[in-house]
Amino acid sequence: MEINKERIVNQFLKLVKINSPSRNERELADYLKRKLGELGITVKEDNVGGKFNGNTGNLIGTYSGEENLPTIFLAAHMDIVRSAKGINPIVEEGIIKTDGSTILGGDDKAGITAILETIQLLKESEIKHGNLEIIFTAGEEIGLFGAKYLDENTLEAEFGFVLDSGGPVDKIIVSAPTEKDFDIEITGKAAHAGVEPEKGISAIEVGCDIITQLKLGKIDEETTANIGVIEGGEATNIVADKLSIKGEARSRDEEKLEQIITEIQDICSKKEEEWEAKIELNITKAYSNFKLTKEDEVVKVAMQSLKDIGLDPKLRPRGGGSDANIFNEKGIPTVNLGIGVKNDHTTKEQIAIEDLVKCTNLVVKIIENVGK
Ligand SMILES: [Zn+2]
Repeated sequence: MEINKERIVNQFLKLVKINSPSRNERELADYLKRKLGELGITVKEDNVGGKFNGNTGNLIGTYSGEENLPTIFLAAHMDIVRSAKGINPIVEEGIIKTDGSTILGGDDKAGITAILETIQLLKESEIKHGNLEIIFTAGEEIGLFGAKYLDENTLEAEFGFVLDSGGPVDKIIVSAPTEKDFDIEITGKAAHAGVEPEKGISAIEVGCDIITQLKLGKIDEETTANIGVIEGGEATNIVADKLSIKGEARSRDEEKLEQIITEIQDICSKKEEEWEAKIELNITKAYSNFKLTKEDEVVKVAMQSLKDIGLDPKLRPRGGGSDANIFNEKGIPTVNLGIGVKNDHTTKEQIAIEDLVKCTNLVVKIIENVGK
């Protein structure tokens, strides 16, 4: 079986030229439905897009195989982190990048490309395989929403592979943190800042007092916390009565994360008393952690397949969440595989053609190994 480099590159270029920002993946989804149809896969689009104000649901289809062989799924996300209208991909010395004015969207169109090309190759070869569930999710970049709302009862896969990790193709993401987001809403008391500031309670001062008490940044090897947004105040001559602080904390260790959350709660209630301000704290879980080991079938298959294509598998944790967190949470053991994209989420995003080929090679090998 020969991998068709030119076909892969053309497919990738076609995909990145379709603008598909989160909540507006419509054009890409329609293209993928047609494309999968041509490959003999009937695709269903679920209707979860509206739940996160998007115009597109997840695409789910099955490439039929032998019933006595295990069913697995392959997944990638359709949305890109920000709009890339009029994107102009440049191919230079084996590297695909942009002119620097937009992102490339290789995250995660490299993953989609590998999946599409794999199915092409399966059609052209005699490789034995079980049913392959193909999942293209929507709204990944804004909170893994497509995967979260996807009805796992529609899936039969015993385990799965998300193709969505930046960096080298030899990397297997086997663990990722839980993330919790917090939203602190402070209500103080407005007053004229020049005439009688003593009658006010500055929500901004309260907020600063809280923030300086929080542990932030890289707390340890598996734990981080960050304040990302502060909003409040109207004018310099008003003691501000409202302030909103938004942040997040992540850890691959649930207990450590709970500790941080408890600390935030304690600090907020202490400061509420001290300042006689009203402090509302809202905590929401963004996603749950997962941890797989070499003993898990999905990891074994990924490792063996990497070795089979001549790469040395590297099991790695990841600091962020991906659709793999959600599929693991739904009870389907899932790893996230490296797709070769570099500098994702920036205008310097790029991918080597060689990595697009390697990634496809890997996915084909995975399917071959599962079918053995
Ligand atoms: Zn991604």
